[in-house]
Amino acid sequence: MGTTKVAGVNVSTDHFIDGKRVESKRKFQNCSPIDGKHLADMSAGGAEEIDAAVAAARRAYPKWAALGPEGRHPILKRFAQAILDHGKEVAAVETEDNGSLLIGNSSRMVPRAALNIQFFADRALKLNDEKIDSPEVVNHVRFDPAGVAALITPWNGPFMLTTWKVGPCLAAGDTAVVKPPEWAPLTCSMMADLATEAGIPPGVLNVVHGIGEEAGAALAAHPDIDRLSFTGSTDTARLIGASTARSLTPVAFELGGKSPFIVCADADLDAAAKTAAGQYFNAGQVCLAGTRILAEAKIADEFLDKFRAAAAQMIVGDPREKTTQVGPLITPEHYQRVEGFVERALKSGVKPLWGGHRHKAGQLYFEPTLMDGATQDMEIVQKEVFGPVLTWQTWRDEDELMKLANGTDYGLAAVIFSKNEEHAIRLARNVVAGTVWVNCFFVRELAAPFGGSRNSGIGREGGNWSFDFYCDVKNIAALKGSFA
Ligand code: NAD
Repeated sequence: MGTTKVAGVNVSTDHFIDGKRVESKRKFQNCSPIDGKHLADMSAGGAEEIDAAVAAARRAYPKWAALGPEGRHPILKRFAQAILDHGKEVAAVETEDNGSLLIGNSSRMVPRAALNIQFFADRALKLNDEKIDSPEVVNHVRFDPAGVAALITPWNGPFMLTTWKVGPCLAAGDTAVVKPPEWAPLTCSMMADLATEAGIPPGVLNVVHGIGEEAGAALAAHPDIDRLSFTGSTDTARLIGASTARSLTPVAFELGGKSPFIVCADADLDAAAKTAAGQYFNAGQVCLAGTRILAEAKIADEFLDKFRAAAAQMIVGDPREKTTQVGPLITPEHYQRVEGFVERALKSGVKPLWGGHRHKAGQLYFEPTLMDGATQDMEIVQKEVFGPVLTWQTWRDEDELMKLANGTDYGLAAVIFSKNEEHAIRLARNVVAGTVWVNCFFVRELAAPFGGSRNSGIGREGGNWSFDFYCDVKNIAALKGSFA
């Protein structure tokens, strides 16, 4: 059995199937983006390990489902508490593994992960209360468990994003097979131990490590899964969708974005500039980031000065340091991808207003960058870079703004800065996006719907939307007066 010591914490490098650690002979390497340090040789799962995990989840399902929301609640509460109790360790390992900011992981991501478990466990208690009266019958609406769920997650926030699926999945009474991201697999491995500590029965939560095209593809194609929830890139979603189309497995897809960041002439420009600079956090490896800055022409110069000043204050460096705001890109391959976008944009005449190069902090660090002069059809405006690279465009009227704002294939989020409520809400209604933030960014209420439009996703999660997905929703229509 394999373990590795990362940030002083012992982490298993093996799968977790039916409550036991399982090692694969084949391994894949895991390195830290901070300094390239080798962290682990992880067990590389494939069809065999996925089969074993799905079978374990299937065996565990009837008992877990039969517990009902009340029976599962205390166990999930202990799970949430275990996450909080080990929060420091989880945050530190996640930072080593994916280079995200330590301060963000400990103050936001880990508490949020615990809340993801607690919130859905609480909410499930109230699920089966609804009755819809009609003249002849009483309709009892039930949210029954659906079976075994496949959960596939990305590297940019693996622990939190996995609990966002595991929370409602287990609260609904489903059992799970998690396929963590190969570029940052360690905290999902820790999650399995925390589940055991909390008393989650064997087989309810299984974790199979591996490369996406092997373990992920085998899971997506498995004939015995009842739900598949995926967060990751749009291209991968197309491959997964081709598999699940054959089995008609219901899917929830949370995918990439290229979100507009709209600054109106009537905005608080200081607040807008500070928030715009915040789009560089975690080196821009944030699906929801407003990466296309769209400033109203009247205030464009004034706003650009303020934005430049705010961006210049962003501290690039080691994500373990409290003051760092922009850490490394995840891997050398991803660094080259980001740099490639910038190089091709430069070749087509786009100019950096700032940044555009490797940062002196290290091999995988890229300068916060703003690109000017791109036309709407250019790759740098259309494609998700997933790095600290934003584009700058200006607009004169709302028609022009909406053409720019809605002029990509994505529709994940949008940010609007305006002090005029009617104006801001009108724009928010017209923009194509699953989430629109007005005068703020990244504020997310768990009871609210979350998801993407167009190529940014299929379905909504959060609140009862999550249970719509993880449950078989049933209506029992009982004839009035027909019972003795
Ligand atoms: P990715 O699509 O490359 O990988 C995501 C997961 O899918 C990984 O676990 C990977 O192993 C697996 N995978 C890869 N190929 C597979 C295949 N053929 N079959 C099954 N599984 C496969 O994405 P990534 O690079 O890990 O993450 C970055 C992407 O995720 C960005 O596009 C980002 O916008 C998106 N993202 C979206 C949200 C959201 O909530 N909408 C949140 C975070 C990240």
